[in-house]
Amino acid sequence: MLRVFNTLSKQKEEFVPVVPGHVGIYVCGPTVYDYPHMGHAKPYIAFDVIVRYLRYLGYTVRYVQNITDVGHLTDDADEGEDKIEKRAAIQRVQPMELAEFFIAEHFWALDALGCVRPNLSPRASAHIPEIIQMCQILIEKGHAYEADGSVYFDVSSFPAYGKLSGRRPEDQEAGVRVEVAPGKRDPADFALWKKAEPGHILRWPSPWGEGYPGWHIECSVMSMKYLGETFDIHGGGVEHVFPHHENEIAQSEAATGKPFVKYWLHNGMITVDGVKMSKSLGNFITIRDAVKKYPPQLLRFYIASQHYRSSTNFSDDLLDDSRRALDRLTSAVWALDKAIAEPGPEDSSASSDIADAAEAAKQRFIAAMDDDFNTPGAVAALFELASAVNRFTSGTASLGKEGLRKARAVFDELGGILGITWPEPPSPKDETGGLAPKLIQLLIDVRQEARNRRDWATADSIRNRLRELGILLEDQIHGGTTWRIAEPVSRTLDMQT
Ligand code: ZN
Repeated sequence: MLRVFNTLSKQKEEFVPVVPGHVGIYVCGPTVYDYPHMGHAKPYIAFDVIVRYLRYLGYTVRYVQNITDVGHLTDDADEGEDKIEKRAAIQRVQPMELAEFFIAEHFWALDALGCVRPNLSPRASAHIPEIIQMCQILIEKGHAYEADGSVYFDVSSFPAYGKLSGRRPEDQEAGVRVEVAPGKRDPADFALWKKAEPGHILRWPSPWGEGYPGWHIECSVMSMKYLGETFDIHGGGVEHVFPHHENEIAQSEAATGKPFVKYWLHNGMITVDGVKMSKSLGNFITIRDAVKKYPPQLLRFYIASQHYRSSTNFSDDLLDDSRRALDRLTSAVWALDKAIAEPGPEDSSASSDIADAAEAAKQRFIAAMDDDFNTPGAVAALFELASAVNRFTSGTASLGKEGLRKARAVFDELGGILGITWPEPPSPKDETGGLAPKLIQLLIDVRQEARNRRDWATADSIRNRLRELGILLEDQIHGGTTWRIAEPVSRTLDMQT
């Protein structure tokens, strides 16, 4: 039974979806105005593992992650510049040109980190009519009002405000020194629709004049459009609990009169020396730079092996530790591959011991994941399996193929939940650093010495045994011997037809 920690109830709850067998999940996506950095990798990988596990459990999952290409203002507040317009002006490009470029970067980063793409990646700018419609519904129901071309949500009209974050309405503007917009009745009220000032490029006609949407309403509109008025999981960074998600709940539930989301899941942050990795602090590394420095599978394994709710420190030392850990798992997988390839019985008493160890590790992995996606516990189960494999494969007992194959399949199955694929072992040629051609030449020289002393039997034996390995020796008319790799049989046959 899957249990998840719900920020709304502040406890673990049994996961029961709205529609049996189906899960709708919405995760706040990027504001596309700059290169994604490793701080963004945490929610991407955390929710990727969650979605993979839900699918592993047999649910049909619709995973929606929006793209904010308008309306996200600097400081996440109601006043200030649009993040995309501001950066576009600096770069001297159209705002939507900038958005287009960074949307491509976003998908590149998801792919690079091995994240399954969302089923839907709706863009805010493509949902302006629905946003205007929701503003109108909220005005009609007395939860919002127009003032000077903008529309604000009346926080006092929604008594449950604060139920997610535990914060009071007056905290809305706390710590943010901004002038209250003209006509705003209360500093706690937040913008649903903003009047476009002269020179503002991202603008659309509306019943209140030309303007653009507020940031919070985008997520309400896009999540409910694709997942229904009440859906299963809303995810996002812990920094968005207030005000972003609190405001989403207020406006959505005020508009529909129904509960908005069953389970709120929040991921912790990536930190550097205990401080949040962020663009504004300058302590970030872009995902493009990170994958030049570390293998993408290592970055993924490192973040996936930490609990999604915990904050994850990012440092060279920690990644080195993680690299050694991943190497230990990979070695166990290679040891299995080697043992499977070697001659041995199909079944033996050791075979069922290996199969039992694999099954036990799988059950521990699943029990950990069922406990609020406890990936550290799940990874620990993989290490137990790796230790068992090492114990068996380093022993002298004859290992049954059946058990070995079962353990290998469990590694693939559980690795798949974490999004880890096990690499192929390095080929012997690579391992010897190009030694193979030198060894072939050595054999050619030994064969020539045999020929010189008329030892034809040895010379022929060397040639024939090399041929068995797929290496053809060719004696040249004017002396000397060259070698080449034999063509695969199928290709030789192809050429004859
Ligand atoms: Zn959002």
